[in-house]
Amino acid sequence: MPFTPFHMGPGLLWKGLQPAGLSLITFGLAQVLIDLEPLYVLKTGKDFLGVPGHLHGISHTILGATVIGVLAGAFGRPLTHLGLWILGQSSFIPVPWRVIWWSAFFGTYSHLVLDAVMHRDVEPFVPFSRSNPLVGLIDVGTLHWFCITTALVGTVMYLSLHLWRQYNSRNVVP
Ligand SMILES: [Zn+2]
Repeated sequence: MPFTPFHMGPGLLWKGLQPAGLSLITFGLAQVLIDLEPLYVLKTGKDFLGVPGHLHGISHTILGATVIGVLAGAFGRPLTHLGLWILGQSSFIPVPWRVIWWSAFFGTYSHLVLDAVMHRDVEPFVPFSRSNPLVGLIDVGTLHWFCITTALVGTVMYLSLHLWRQYNSRNVVP
């Protein structure tokens, strides 16, 4: 899916279900990093391994998603801390590494699965196999609705919880 924002759906749903259990910045960073290769292909016509016209190359494999997950985790933690500091939420710093790694790998692997269902040229098992058993498992329209619905439900849940906590904290007798 060259349109990266669609991939935020599963992350936003998780954020709504368990706000402290996911770093949305790390999850989002994973989405951006994994789609750098398709962006590069659109600019140059070749993937990272030099294959012409191959939109989803090595970044969209289990191997690539694992390496990109490590990068997303390593850079995601300081970025998350910066984001929390800017938002005045420093009390949540430091974010546990387990939350960061979950956000990074949930990000890259969910991205890979969604793209593998949607795009024939995704080859998750390279270099061991060039097959893609997931392609066409769900039709593209349903896949888009899944992404949009999870994003909306997660956002509403997260904002509702945030507002409810704010309302309750105002009503606490000091
Ligand atoms: Zn992608």
